[in-house]
Amino acid sequence: MSDILPFQRRPNPAGNTLCRNGHHKWRIDKVRRFDVKQGRLVTVYRCARCGKTRVKAH
Ligand SMILES: [Zn+2]
Repeated sequence: MSDILPFQRRPNPAGNTLCRNGHHKWRIDKVRRFDVKQGRLVTVYRCARCGKTRVKAH
């Protein structure tokens, strides 16, 4: 037993307070994807903290 890091960085930390309260850190994931359901161009956003995605129509 040696050299065990007590804190490891997680890409998606569970239980982020800001994200739980709906304050996600949105970053553009895919610009101008064509959404067939809506029949229009959309931009896909991904939260930099929890990885959640949302789609915004233009
Ligand atoms: Zn988030």
